[in-house]
Amino acid sequence: MNALAARIAELIAADGPLSIAQFMTLCLHDPAGGTYGARDPIGRDFVTAPEISQAFGELLGLWTVQAWHDQGRAEGVRLVELGPGRGTLIADALRAITAAAPDFLGGAEVVLVEASPILEALQRDKLKTFTADISWCKHFDDNLTDRPLFLLANEFFDCLPVRQFVKTVQGWHERMITVENGALAFALTPAPAPSSVIPSDRAEAPTGGVYEIAPAALTLAEEIAAVIAAKGGAALIVDYGYDSPGFGETLQAVAGHKFAEVLAEPGESDLSAHVDFYALAKAVEAGGAAAYGPVTQCNLLADLGIGPRAERLMITNPTQARIIADAVDRLVNPEKMGALFKALAVAPKNTPPPPGFC
Ligand code: SAH
Repeated sequence: MNALAARIAELIAADGPLSIAQFMTLCLHDPAGGTYGARDPIGRDFVTAPEISQAFGELLGLWTVQAWHDQGRAEGVRLVELGPGRGTLIADALRAITAAAPDFLGGAEVVLVEASPILEALQRDKLKTFTADISWCKHFDDNLTDRPLFLLANEFFDCLPVRQFVKTVQGWHERMITVENGALAFALTPAPAPSSVIPSDRAEAPTGGVYEIAPAALTLAEEIAAVIAAKGGAALIVDYGYDSPGFGETLQAVAGHKFAEVLAEPGESDLSAHVDFYALAKAVEAGGAAAYGPVTQCNLLADLGIGPRAERLMITNPTQARIIADAVDRLVNPEKMGALFKALAVAPKNTPPPPGFC
């Protein structure tokens, strides 16, 4: 057992088995050994779209500007990014926004929601040359509810903790983490969960079927939607995920760009789960806003003009042309990131559909 696993085992000995959600939170955010709490996994364990091509962040920045135009160019907006990683997406977005619509940023506040002190330090360094009013906070909270909200989130929702319920002949049992023979192990709760935990559209699962739910993701999507419904704005959530309810499990561990065992080395691999866009869209609607999509990353980026942007980048950097073309292909090719990654947009009801979702 590594040091974090040993501490988790002590916690289980004292308090009983942990839910998968509690385990994920410890593995991701523990300040001494967590994936994000103690180090920067981006590049080492996995790579994200903004790190692959600058066009990704630029186009998301321009998406924001177009949504702002479509809704009447409100003054004093708030631009929020959830989980900005190394700050690359927001740096590329701010550069594109400054070039295309400097008035968007006049009076605007930029807020970066980041749990990891290590990544926050990288973001501060990356953004030190920008003159925009940029601040940081650890959670999306009530301080972010009083202005029109333009929000971007790439590969953020997949990090939010999931709970899993497994259908057996006795009913649905939550999958927990316990200790067996000196090692962390999965186990089901002995008593079935109350039937109210399982929504009616998932009740008819076969034996062995899994219901995976990300409660924090759904609450957050509803909160974001409520702000957008009340104050205006738009949100774009990009992630790997699925768009219709299923009975599979998607919790995964990735280390060094390869799949790893979820329980093997807590904190040493990145734990995540595919985003349930179907449930996320329902949460957005419960928050009072309109949900659009999901559309595939391939279609979104094509619609936002990644083709002409890539050509322009290749003309201005001819020696890099092959690298630029390969990077863009990785983002849009359906065999690579183009189809697995999807985008969901949020906008107030009765406003034009956001760009890429018309
Ligand atoms: N969006 C970036 C990074 C994705 S990695 C990119 O595309 O490159 C996930 C990011 O979300 C990291 O910055 C991580 O520290 C942050 N994060 C994960 N869980 C979080 C939480 N619960 N609260 C705030 N930030 C979180």
